[in-house]
Amino acid sequence: MNSQNEILENLINNISKLPGIGKKSARRIAYYLINTPEHNAISTANSIIEAREKLGLCKECFNLSEDTICSVCSDRSRNKEAILVIENFHDLYLFEKLNIHKGVYHVLGGLLNPLDGIGPNALRLDELFNRVKEHNISELIIGLNHSIEGDSTSLYISNRLNSSGVKISRLASGIPVGGEIEYTDEITLRQAFENRK
Ligand SMILES: [Zn+2]
Repeated sequence: MNSQNEILENLINNISKLPGIGKKSARRIAYYLINTPEHNAISTANSIIEAREKLGLCKECFNLSEDTICSVCSDRSRNKEAILVIENFHDLYLFEKLNIHKGVYHVLGGLLNPLDGIGPNALRLDELFNRVKEHNISELIIGLNHSIEGDSTSLYISNRLNSSGVKISRLASGIPVGGEIEYTDEITLRQAFENRK
């Protein structure tokens, strides 16, 4: 049987693996979860299990979705010929919140980073190139961070689609150099989208 300390340390350890949570915050959250009325803690645990079980990836854009095709891709009012290429679900959420993109998305699932062993095959790049080829895509907007990884991923995409005839633009560098979309304020992100080149 686990000792009391082991149980607590195990909980803290698991919470500290969450993004942006250090050991100190993890300890605070662990104490909260133990002290809060039981139904609160159980409801949190159940939400995690339910999200893991029921949410999958959209077959077209790799957005999170309960169905095979996500709500963005199945929305008939969206322009299916314009794809905004983004790194992750969170960036998709930000662009949707701003309501500036009337087309659809493609979630790459990361950025090229050879030093960390992330090559083209680790991302959903082939899926993107197939989409462009098979679905009559006319415009590709690259909404990736202005970082070394974001730049090399953008360059890789542009090179591969060079002869495809698709119009490619990238969000203007209103996003600070080295800056991440996640931390860019709404006005700057809106301007970057409108001034894309
Ligand atoms: Zn989708």
